[in-house]
Amino acid sequence: MKAAKWYGKKDIRVEDVPTPPAPKPGEVQIKVAWCGICGSDLHEYLAGPIFIPVEPHPLTGVKAPLILGHEFSGEVVAVGEGVTTVQVGDSVAPDACQHCGTCVTCREGRYNVCEKLAFTGLMAEGAFAELVNVPAELCYVLPIVHRT
Ligand SMILES: [Zn+2]
Ligand SMILES: [Zn+2]
Repeated sequence: MKAAKWYGKKDIRVEDVPTPPAPKPGEVQIKVAWCGICGSDLHEYLAGPIFIPVEPHPLTGVKAPLILGHEFSGEVVAVGEGVTTVQVGDSVAPDACQHCGTCVTCREGRYNVCEKLAFTGLMAEGAFAELVNVPAELCYVLPIVHRT
């Protein structure tokens, strides 16, 4: 599939990459319909790496080069084992805050400041791509149908 990968400052390449594997337990695979360009994407382009890890991220294991893009919506095309909150065919807009679920702030419900926070598209593979896998628990189901 085509994807836009961040390699370094002022070095983003649109290239053919392998499609993501089948979603792991608790994950969904989304066919991306739309993805915005965030200010943080611009900052990574102009002056990165800022948030992009150059060593494997403690939550996701991902490091540069990686696929940017975290402000997106799309259609669920596959669900991993144990996923009950969304189903294939749902239109979704995922929260970007991938988190551990076990640290103090996660247990307090403040997962946006998880000590292992891994933003989709900055510390995990992102949505400047045709397909992306993310945790199902982050997906908000939308009352619309994507037309792509
Ligand atoms: Zn953003
Ligand atoms: Zn946490």
